[in-house]
Amino acid sequence: MVTDVEKPLIVAIDGPSGSGKSSTARGVAERLGLAYLDTGAMYRAAAWLVAERDLTEPADIVDAIRAADLEISLDPTSFTIAIDGNDVTEAIREPRISATVSRVATIQAVRDILIALQRALIAGAPHGIVAEGRDITTVVAPEAPIRVLLVADPAARIARRAAELGEKADQAQVTDQVIRRDADDSTVAAFTEAAPGVTVVDSTHLSLPEVIDRICALAQAT
Ligand code: C5P
Repeated sequence: MVTDVEKPLIVAIDGPSGSGKSSTARGVAERLGLAYLDTGAMYRAAAWLVAERDLTEPADIVDAIRAADLEISLDPTSFTIAIDGNDVTEAIREPRISATVSRVATIQAVRDILIALQRALIAGAPHGIVAEGRDITTVVAPEAPIRVLLVADPAARIARRAAELGEKADQAQVTDQVIRRDADDSTVAAFTEAAPGVTVVDSTHLSLPEVIDRICALAQAT
């Protein structure tokens, strides 16, 4: 009997807004030849659908998301996401979505639907996957052999978000996207402190390649 079949590697990365999670997770996935799952994009696509249909009642929101067909690419070099046949890859990054996504993501029944989908995507990645979000290390994949909480000082996180938004950045909007959103999100997911067994990586004074190196070193040590 063949027993030395390698188990797909699962790398779970959580962190607040502006901690550099997405770039880091993509970089680690590329370096290790793994798939990449951006769970935040799934919540953003759900929020896009809610905005598109002008839904306000939690029961209607949950029904719409349960019935929706969500397609997300797992390729770290080329990201796309579609909901009910609408390509929302660009639209989910708009400030109106960033401003409303927490309202949708804090409905527990919405989380249950998306978490089930995320677990199926993780289990279906043949060579392993890097999954990033707010509750991956604690709820979605607590059994992952590599679990990282990526943190950074609030000032660094606000500066990074402002740089991402470029000329469109409005200071109040950026602060809302980082500080208010994290406060709302942390009511349903514990990403402000590392759970037991989760490695904290502070990216405040590290470059992106340095953060990627640290996480890849953890993977090589397993
Ligand atoms: O990571 P990103 O900023 O794209 O996440 C968008 C939003 O999705 C977060 O503000 C949060 O409300 C929600 N989210 C979540 N759980 C995750 C990932 C994202 O609640 N695992």
